[in-house]
Amino acid sequence: MVARDGDGWVQCECGNKHWGLNGAAGILIFRGREILLQHRAPWVHNGDTWGIPGGARDSHESVIEGAVREAIEETGVDAQYLTPLESFSDDHGNWRYDTVIARATEDLIAHEVNDESHEVRWVEIEKVDQLSLHPSFAQSWPKLKEILNNLIGPR
Ligand SMILES: [Zn+2]
Repeated sequence: MVARDGDGWVQCECGNKHWGLNGAAGILIFRGREILLQHRAPWVHNGDTWGIPGGARDSHESVIEGAVREAIEETGVDAQYLTPLESFSDDHGNWRYDTVIARATEDLIAHEVNDESHEVRWVEIEKVDQLSLHPSFAQSWPKLKEILNNLIGPR
């Protein structure tokens, strides 16, 4: 086990507090026209909302390493079925959240594996807005959706 040195709060220039001393990374996994979302437990920060797997990044990790590790920890996916394609950085100044966009093959199986996450679900891109989204994911979603649509192409 490598020591976790990313755990902690940052008082951000944007006025909010964020989790992740080295920033945070998340992964937006898509398959066809669906993305993988997880419902976060009510007792975690910004709980009872839908978001993507992600969390504090360790100093020794790249964005992709951090994002993939979180996906494995939170949803039990097998990284061999994931192909990272692009990343999007939400830069707040002294803190940033990087989202890796990764294509999954049909063999990818996701399920809730820890108690931070209630449920994981494949959600059609067009229906994501109907869910109660995690605030930072909600903020990035329009841009992420645009990147996804460019990757997937028109219906
Ligand atoms: Zn901020």
